[in-house]
Amino acid sequence: MASDQLPDYGRHLAVSITNACPLQCGHCISNSSPKSRQGFQGLAENFAGFLDLWPKARHVTLTGGEPFYDLAGMKLFLELCVQREVRAGAITSGYWAKTPKAAAEMLNKVPGLHSLTISSDVFHQQYVSVDFIANAYRAGRERGLLTHVRLTGHAETKDDERELRAKILDFCDREDLEDALLAPYGRAEEFREELARSTPREAKLGLCPSSGPHIFESGRVTPCCNSIVSLEQEHALDFGNILGEPSSAVKARLLSDEFFLTIKILGFDFLRDYLDEIGELDFAPVSACEFCFQLCKEPRQFRKLESLFKNPEFRFQLHAIAIGEYGNHFSGAPIKSLLATHVTGTEMVPELEQATTPA
Ligand code: SF4
Ligand code: SF4
Repeated sequence: MASDQLPDYGRHLAVSITNACPLQCGHCISNSSPKSRQGFQGLAENFAGFLDLWPKARHVTLTGGEPFYDLAGMKLFLELCVQREVRAGAITSGYWAKTPKAAAEMLNKVPGLHSLTISSDVFHQQYVSVDFIANAYRAGRERGLLTHVRLTGHAETKDDERELRAKILDFCDREDLEDALLAPYGRAEEFREELARSTPREAKLGLCPSSGPHIFESGRVTPCCNSIVSLEQEHALDFGNILGEPSSAVKARLLSDEFFLTIKILGFDFLRDYLDEIGELDFAPVSACEFCFQLCKEPRQFRKLESLFKNPEFRFQLHAIAIGEYGNHFSGAPIKSLLATHVTGTEMVPELEQATTPA
């Protein structure tokens, strides 16, 4: 199972070029508003250096906040991606597409954009009507961008969500409409109980699904732009800041972290079973990203895993697989120190043995 996931990591990077947004939706995972932080000075240049360290990178997503709210920043990031022949896409609410003319003019200002995802849901509708979405979608298509509408809603679709979907399908091709589930993070935390009741529990939690790191507007680096981006405090999957230290140090820390390697190689079913076995599983995880969020949000929960991640035998086996998967792409520093202390003749953790066995 590891071979599908780990070598692909780093094909896709995401960067919040700003956390500011002209809207202030009630479910916003990044807690954005017009008063949120802009991208920090030097973010684009340092991001370019970070991107250069990921030779497998094929795509960069410019996100936020609202990337179109920082047009100068967006142009700079697009230029850097074009120079490196990496495709760039943007996720937007489409607030700038009041008329077909305004939509076309805005896209003329961002040459180099390859794809456009227009995000919508009933919360956005308070500020951005369906006409804006239609204008942005048509302008994206006319410009030859790979254009999608992403519709976020409850697992059990509500009446207003169904109505919105029908209106969007009046102008949007079915294959260009992506569905996403409303998630209880950031400002949507207040819907946690309601969402827990209506979202089906995943029987198998599986591996971390991230395809590459996420860089915040402040330069902080986490392994994904999923649930944990809503956490503003430092946590177990916080790997440093490309504005405050060399990008190579941040990358090496990410790719040699035992927690990250465990969720990529062994997955969350292994962690759930481990906690269960040691009598420390005191909540019922519903999905990989929700489990990950709880472990990162609550240091008390994460501490229960520390003895596992500090176990030299476990670490040795984990790093040995990671090196096999990444080759030169992986920092070999931890394995060298582990080799020095490795005790031979011990048995392999069964899940690790399985992960190293060819299918
Ligand atoms: S959900 Fe999107 S559009 Fe709404 S405030 Fe957040 S970043 Fe802006
Ligand atoms: S929240 Fe955790 S499990 Fe989900 S994609 Fe991010 S790092 Fe992976």
